Amino acid sequence: MQAMPARLSLPVTNTLLNTDHIELWPAPLLRARSNTDARVMARASRVLRRKDDGRYLAAVVPEGLVGLLSGWSRTPGIDEALDRLEDAETRTVHGDADLAGALPLNGLRRRLNVLGLDADEYATRTGLALVAEPAALTLAGFDRYRRPLWLTGAAGRAWQAMRVAAAADHIALEAVSGYRSHAYQLGIFERKRARGQSVAQILTVNAAPGYSEHHGGTALDIGTPGEPPAEESFEATEAFAWLSANAARFGFHMSYPRDNPHGIVYEPWHWRHAPLLAG
Ligand SMILES: [Zn+2]
Repeated sequence: MQAMPARLSLPVTNTLLNTDHIELWPAPLLRARSNTDARVMARASRVLRRKDDGRYLAAVVPEGLVGLLSGWSRTPGIDEALDRLEDAETRTVHGDADLAGALPLNGLRRRLNVLGLDADEYATRTGLALVAEPAALTLAGFDRYRRPLWLTGAAGRAWQAMRVAAAADHIALEAVSGYRSHAYQLGIFERKRARGQSVAQILTVNAAPGYSEHHGGTALDIGTPGEPPAEESFEATEAFAWLSANAARFGFHMSYPRDNPHGIVYEPWHWRHAPLLAG
């Protein structure tokens, strides 16, 4: 009898643990970027990944931590990430990421100030509120680009049930984009600011970091095969007609219909899981 490959004996986890600066990924879901990394990651349960630039910092192997980036142990936020790891290892999360709560908004507010974005003025003008990131997210399948799709546990289960129901009606729904971090959106702003664009200019094209429903892990951009992602033409598809008739049964609602009060363009592809909202 052959020995079981080491990879299969690792505890299987479908949870992304989240902290302010660092994400703790299930190692099998990440692609190694060098042979050295690949050898370590093949034995790892989790990889610590910096949110600002996606760099891999360290891997959790049976003997402990192995650095993947020099100076990883001095990375801002590393103590918080290691505490989170220890916490997750000693306490069963009952397989439900929703029990882990949300991260505080302090760090985001500081970075918005540094950018020169007046959070209160923006909130008043748009009627949007800052959206906290969940402290943990659940793998809800893969998106149309084969990237892991992260959502809260409840949103993920609802999405999978809705997809199955649509398929039974011969409608193919695919995820285009789910959870996105504050750091991801802040990075877009910081790079454009560094190239000399004003905050006002950037806001005409990009949503302000912190105000997207995608940060909360409950929003999903939905597409259907053969359609370009996130285009208004989605409203003419059978998939959109099916969603309009059925999504509310699964707790999904379109966030930005035509002429919405937030001044956000019509987004027929963007749906949020909010089961308590009346359909
Ligand atoms: Zn969206």
